[in-house]
Amino acid sequence: MAKAAVSVAKRRPTRQIHVGGVAVGGDAPVSVQSMTTTKTADVEATIQQIYALAGAGADIVRCTCNEREAAEGLAQIVPRSPVPIVADIHFHVEMALAALDAGVNGLRLNPGNLRKPEEIKLVAAEARDRGVPIRIGVNAGSLHPALYERFGGATPEALVESARMELAYFDEVDFHDVKISVKASNVALMIEAYRLASETFDYPLHLGVTEAGPPPGGLVKATAGIATLLAEGIGDTIRYSLTADPVEEARAGRQLLEALGLRERKGLDLIACPSCGRAEIDVIKVANDAQVALEARKIPLQIAVMGCVVNGPGEAREADLGIAAGRKRGHLFIKGKIVRVVPEGEMVEALVAEAEKIVSEGIEARLAAADASAERAAEEDRRELFESKGSDANHSDERVIEIRKHLRELGGDARPAGAGGTAAGDSQGAGDDASSGEHGAGS
Ligand code: SF4
Repeated sequence: MAKAAVSVAKRRPTRQIHVGGVAVGGDAPVSVQSMTTTKTADVEATIQQIYALAGAGADIVRCTCNEREAAEGLAQIVPRSPVPIVADIHFHVEMALAALDAGVNGLRLNPGNLRKPEEIKLVAAEARDRGVPIRIGVNAGSLHPALYERFGGATPEALVESARMELAYFDEVDFHDVKISVKASNVALMIEAYRLASETFDYPLHLGVTEAGPPPGGLVKATAGIATLLAEGIGDTIRYSLTADPVEEARAGRQLLEALGLRERKGLDLIACPSCGRAEIDVIKVANDAQVALEARKIPLQIAVMGCVVNGPGEAREADLGIAAGRKRGHLFIKGKIVRVVPEGEMVEALVAEAEKIVSEGIEARLAAADASAERAAEEDRRELFESKGSDANHSDERVIEIRKHLRELGGDARPAGAGGTAAGDSQGAGDDASSGEHGAGS
């Protein structure tokens, strides 16, 4: 069957700016940002966290610059950082100027916090002279009260107007090295605000759902907002704002971009079946063990863990590598082709070893090195399992009979006369084939 062509909308054209060595906007790849949670004055702890964030996928890292000690810390952090550093200025113009003196690669200004036009223009002029870009970081929660009143709340129009007013101050000092964010914790509001910003400005947009909260809810909210916009071609750089270790933010950002095909795969993409009555192993445990082992080795492949050999290799045939369980054995497959059969207790070990060989030798070489008897052994296991478990591994026929029996006893079977049929007959199509119906429900 031909592979469906799925792609996100063409990226909306924007100007391009540079945050240190990272291009943002234009035809630059969408970048991932995160923010440190250490005290910026604690240089060693902050550097350590920046390295962890860069390792997890962050292209740009933001640090808070809220006091003199933080600015002094930035002076030491910037030259040692593996990625460009952006300073977040909260309320004080002095901190913006101190961060520029520290040599940061970018500033974030919140128009709701730094409000005096002379101060905004002073910072923009200093940034212009040093070639440092500024993000206009509008936030629904800290919108300027005058705008809140004028628009009757933190509406998409109010957020975009806040950015427009800040841009007007920047224009006065001929500063245009800008990206814009219009974040909100309400996902629907955030999406509408960015759509409007995208129609209004040609500056690069930094996407984020602010204060998304702890995972998994925070991940869901951030992904809902960011992915929706990216799929529409909106957005040039992203940040997950999670109440969690920021490494999770960087990892999530990178994974989202890889999942949408907006960045080349750098890390592991582990896929696994949800398990069902056919599962021959504890899929959750094997998948977790495999994920830990493969991530530790930074394997840049899509790898599948499937609960049974009846459906697993076929369902995950697009994966680079996978393993499916059956009759106390693990069936290793590459691009859907069974290449080796190993004892069940060695599944994770064998998966990791094969992944490392694929990385060093390539997929074609590993397919050529397949064990000639593996496909036949898998076919035998498949047949045995199918025969022993039948087409109804989830016992749905038995359950249907139980339901009808109880309803009859309760007098609640409202089926019209003549609409009968056997349970087995009614279940046709729900699970009459080892490779079709039943699996569609499980996976
Ligand atoms: Fe997993 Fe599908 Fe096999 Fe069920 S039928 S164990 S969901 S691969």
